[in-house]
Amino acid sequence: MFQKILIANRGEIALRIQRACRDLGIRTVVVHSEADSEAKYVKLADESVCIGPAASSLSYLNIPAIISAAEVTDAEAIHPGYGFLSENADFAERVEKSGFVFIGPRPDTIRLMGDKVSAKQTMIKAGVPCVPGSEGALPPEPEELIKLGRKIGYPVIVKASGGGGGRGMRVVHTEAALKHAVALTRSEAEAAFGNPMLYMEKYLENPRHIEVQVLADEHKNVVYLGERDCSMQRRHQKIMEEAPAPDITPRLRTRIGERCVEACKKIGYRGAGTFEFLFENGEFYFIEMNTRLQVEHPVTEMITGIDIVQQQIRIAAGEKLPFRQRDVQFRGHSVECRINAEHPFTFVPSPGKITSYHPPGGPGIRVDSHIYQGYSVPPNYDSMIGKIIAYGDDRDQAIRRMRIALSEMVVGGIQTNIPLHQELLMDNRVIKGGVSIHYVEQRLAQQKKQLAEG
Ligand code: ADP
Repeated sequence: MFQKILIANRGEIALRIQRACRDLGIRTVVVHSEADSEAKYVKLADESVCIGPAASSLSYLNIPAIISAAEVTDAEAIHPGYGFLSENADFAERVEKSGFVFIGPRPDTIRLMGDKVSAKQTMIKAGVPCVPGSEGALPPEPEELIKLGRKIGYPVIVKASGGGGGRGMRVVHTEAALKHAVALTRSEAEAAFGNPMLYMEKYLENPRHIEVQVLADEHKNVVYLGERDCSMQRRHQKIMEEAPAPDITPRLRTRIGERCVEACKKIGYRGAGTFEFLFENGEFYFIEMNTRLQVEHPVTEMITGIDIVQQQIRIAAGEKLPFRQRDVQFRGHSVECRINAEHPFTFVPSPGKITSYHPPGGPGIRVDSHIYQGYSVPPNYDSMIGKIIAYGDDRDQAIRRMRIALSEMVVGGIQTNIPLHQELLMDNRVIKGGVSIHYVEQRLAQQKKQLAEG
């Protein structure tokens, strides 16, 4: 096992990884920007290195600075967390070439899955069900495009092969709009991702977002840890997640889980990974694979009792998975609410000083957060300041516990999205379970309309 790990991230996930390391008896180094020098996980780490000013491009994305920090502190491995450099194949390669262990998949796997056209082709070959669409990159000839659009059937969605974070895609409703939409998306993709390659898919109108968590070691052992429902989103970003997903039967779970495991074996996957699917009319459609830890990993930990971050570290150290598929048991239900420093209904970020803080507690409540009273939420990064994770014997109990937790939680001095979560957990459709990815925004739009009409 490693003696010392460098954590190349910030916020709640830096603290989460640090806790996993401590549990394993591993010492930690955190790198941080000038804006984060007062952060809790920086104070708690065995060592810390300031790697640059607040701007991410100069700190958390600064590859040479991170590698140097690992060198001067004698760290053996680097955990990239999520976001930032976690899915950057060049970073993973630089880490390994510099003699450190990258806690994640091999660089070529990251590259393969980061390019969505190659990822989708790989999944089709591996027998994973995908959204019907173009077989590869879109052809340049307008006649070919039109043919393809007719074959898939409108509405279609045009997506950038190098896209990510909900950017670089456009829904097209009619043939007349296709040519222009493709040209526009292509130039945007070129500018944003340096890659003009596009592909086309059937646009699913009312899908749910369901994803499958996998773990794979270097010894050909692969397991799936069930699924999560992440359909509650605003601006294509998840805000509430749960496991298991409502109405997914054991049969469906096994079927899709086994497909994902097979795909991992085919590509020689290593580490923790997530297969993201849209789910509509009882069918799964692969959209992308995330080759890293996900924000919402705790709901899976709660229902399986498996510490996913510790497993990532053990896998990176070359250990065998300590359990087989048949040992993975799903028990109870878990819900996660992402707490963001933002206006609950307009989503405008609300950074600033936290003047009072009372975290919730009690049976079945876990809080993953780095904030404290007196902490200033910097304006430079993502607005998420923590997560509440509730566990219950069943979904009803998990929701009840989450409602209590939200009512106990006080974050003074800044705005948070707690009121939105509270409203959503009183909504009959949400309580019933299984809403589509558009539900939260549709609901907010409706409320706005009602307000405007007085
Ligand atoms: P990104 O990497 O940018 O997150 P994804 O391919 O995961 O891109 O898609 C992001 C979101 O866009 C999905 O969660 C879904 O809301 C929407 N989306 C993507 N593909 C489709 C599709 N074929 N039909 C309907 N919605 C889609």
